[in-house]
This record gives sequence, C-alpha cells and structure tokens, in this order.
Amino acid sequence: MPIMSDASSPADAEARRAVRPVICYPVETLPPAPMEIYRAARDTLAKVDEVVVPPRDARCFSVPAGHFFRIVSIEGPQVGDLNLWNAHDPQERFYSGKTRALHRTHLTTGDRLWSSFPALRPMATITHDTLGWYGFDAYGGAVHDVIGTRCDPYTHDLLSGGGRYHHCCHSNLTRAFADATGRPLAEAEPQVHDVLNVFMCTGFTRDTGQYFMKASPVRPGDFLEFFAEIDLLAGLSACPGGDCSSEHSSDVAVCRPLLVVILKPAEGSLAGWTPPARSGYDRSHGR
Ligand SMILES: [Zn+2]
Repeated sequence: MPIMSDASSPADAEARRAVRPVICYPVETLPPAPMEIYRAARDTLAKVDEVVVPPRDARCFSVPAGHFFRIVSIEGPQVGDLNLWNAHDPQERFYSGKTRALHRTHLTTGDRLWSSFPALRPMATITHDTLGWYGFDAYGGAVHDVIGTRCDPYTHDLLSGGGRYHHCCHSNLTRAFADATGRPLAEAEPQVHDVLNVFMCTGFTRDTGQYFMKASPVRPGDFLEFFAEIDLLAGLSACPGGDCSSEHSSDVAVCRPLLVVILKPAEGSLAGWTPPARSGYDRSHGR
C-alpha cells in the first residue's frame, strides 16, 4: 500500500529530515535489573512444574515471585503470545506499549516487562534468550516483539468480510484465563491484553511502515527465560500462525505445542533482591 500524500515538499524538506533524533525515554535513571543476582540464582535452578501449551490453544500458569520460567520450543518452529497478570489483582497487567517505549521494539536479556498504571513496575525480567544472537536482519526484522498486539477474531472478521475463526490468540487467551480463574468468558475477555510475541520475527517495512512477520528463526531447544518479580498468573497461546511464515487466523499453518517450565532457585540464592515497588506517583493529577 503506497503512502498517499497530498502535501508538496517545502524547500527545506531535507534539512528538516536531517534533524537528529533523541531517545524519548533515556533509561539511565531506571533502576537497573540486578542481573548478577539472577545469574547466580540461575546456577541453582530446579524444575518445579511444567505445562504443555497445545497448538492453536492457550494455557495459564502461576509463577511465584522469585521463581523463573522458560518458554521452550519443542517439535518445531512456533511462536507464542504471552500475557502477564498480577496473580492477586489482574487489573495490574503487562503493558506492552510502555515496555516498548522504555526498552525497545523487540526484547531480549536484561529487558523487563512493565505493568500497567498505576503500578508501573517490572513484573518480570528476561534472564536468558537463546535467540539473542539474531539481532536485526536485513529487512529490519527481529524476534520477541512488543510492536504487535495479538491475532484476534475482530480484526479477522474485518479483513475477511465476516470470516469466523475461534482459535486466534485473543480467543485462546480468553478461554485460558476463564478456565484458570473460574470467570465467565465475558469477564475474562477484557483481561486479555497486548502481548509479548515470543519467538515471533517481525518488523516494519522500510518503505511503507507496515507491520510484517516472517518465518521465526526459533528451533527446538531454544528458550526465552524470565524471572518473576511479583507473583504472576501468565497466559501463553501457541499462535495459529505457527512459525508465522504465511498466515494466521486460520488452520492453514503448521502449528506445534510450546513447553513452559517453571523453575525455583535454591533457598538464599536471591540475597540482595527485593520485589519492585509500585509507582510512587500520588495520582492527584494536579487537583
Ligand atoms: Zn496469534
């Protein structure tokens, strides 16, 4: 789709384009993630639970604060859509947009998954990424994005002229959250939010700025590992797009399961770590 413009260029168009950008959110003042503590604790991990997420479906799982969890590729390339909630208050949930603004478009080791207002605190920290070597490819693609949203039946209906598909990640996560919390679908659905696209390879086209996806570079054995900063309820959907090399919102793509492994570090191995505090803003908003 070409970008349409009805504006003629001003004489100084190139000079205006040549202005250097500045980083919106300089992160030098962000409290750094204590990666040395996590690294030491990783050496003591013992598996306490695991969950297999079936293809074209989702599962929820709990991760206590101070535990780690891994999302592992098994059987073949497959992407996953991740939601995070405060286990005690689902109104505090992963805030994809602010995470993108604070860190980058695609997350990797050391980046944190921030929660919604008014808490705005790290819910989880990425502690290992076996796809960390990928970087940005020649198309501007990279893995584990926070630029997409999640495949959903509403957009599918819109773009397909009334098509019905019930196993988009949005619906999968809705059913999984309902099952995990005993809530009806109508209450569960508003809790589903924009995701971390685990293993998905995405970017924006350079010429038209459109969101693109391409075959994920993930292979069996690859994993993305997180440290739970607070008690978490997490939801993971094995996207109907499979490796997202062709299409989603259908049963066309080959889909594989994903494995979630929950791991506990040895007692005492997290000395020096403290759970993150909620935002200190007083919420008076000038009144
Ligand atoms: Zn999906």
